[in-house]
Amino acid sequence: TNKDIATPGRTREILEKYGFSFKKSLGQNFLIDTNILRKIVDVAGLSRETGAIEIGPGIGALTEQLARRAKKVVAFEIDQRLLPILEDTLSPYENVRIIHQDVLKADIRRVIAEEFTDAADIMVVANLPYYVTTPIIMKLLTDNLPIRGIVVMLQKEVADRISAQPGTKDYGSLSIAIQYYTEAEKIMTVPRTVFIPQPNVDSAVIRLIKRKQPPVDVDDESFFFQVVRASFAQRRKTILNNLISNLPNGKARKEKIERILTENGIDPRRRGETLTMEEFAALSNALREVMC
Ligand code: SAM
Repeated sequence: TNKDIATPGRTREILEKYGFSFKKSLGQNFLIDTNILRKIVDVAGLSRETGAIEIGPGIGALTEQLARRAKKVVAFEIDQRLLPILEDTLSPYENVRIIHQDVLKADIRRVIAEEFTDAADIMVVANLPYYVTTPIIMKLLTDNLPIRGIVVMLQKEVADRISAQPGTKDYGSLSIAIQYYTEAEKIMTVPRTVFIPQPNVDSAVIRLIKRKQPPVDVDDESFFFQVVRASFAQRRKTILNNLISNLPNGKARKEKIERILTENGIDPRRRGETLTMEEFAALSNALREVMC
């Protein structure tokens, strides 16, 4: 087998050879620990029949590990300067395709249709650029792509919010948005010392497995998420006050909103962070009838 890219020595050698300088604005923190990379690939559950999508291959540290285990890897990289480097470092692997594009602008559905015609399943696996973690995950989930799931490294603080349960300080609209689409699990925390350069925050790996069905019955998804966001707008306020202030025409409908909360067994003095996803679903279904 080939020498791993993700060792401190080999990484420094590659960076020096190409005179590469990190762009902080692109969230460039490269992994230099092969054990962490193998763990990420392990929890993704890849087989020889899996198509892997990577976001931000950098100099190919994770791409290489994916190429050894998956049927094919398609990686989106925004930084043109990395293309000749990747061409060099990944030359031993014939099942890798690099696409030079901002993943947020990519037509991922089309890329999947063109690149993974006979894959048994598709996983997204990445060490994400931290400045766009949430937009990337939300795009992957709301574009309704034929993927089995997502395994990503991101800021520990965001991982905690994504996997949080009701009644905790980390629970909020991001927890509900992600858990509506996936079963979310925090796999491990990762110290900043395994990156070059070291980021200013600690990191974590999460696994999101897409649900076949939403876990709750929601009549109108966009209104459901609107109610959730309104409920968390000011965390110190009660659910009633947040809904009044943050739903359209909320002030004029104060009495109705209060009645619907009570009818659904939700004390209007509770805080949004104590409501389960089931309670938000019932609440938004009932509110929709009087608000929309
Ligand atoms: N996968 C490599 C590793 O683990 O060492 C690099 C990870 S680094 C945290 C993030 C990578 O994403 C960088 O290579 C960066 O250039 C790239 N990137 C940043 N924004 C991007 C975007 N919008 N679309 C695609 N790639 C992006």
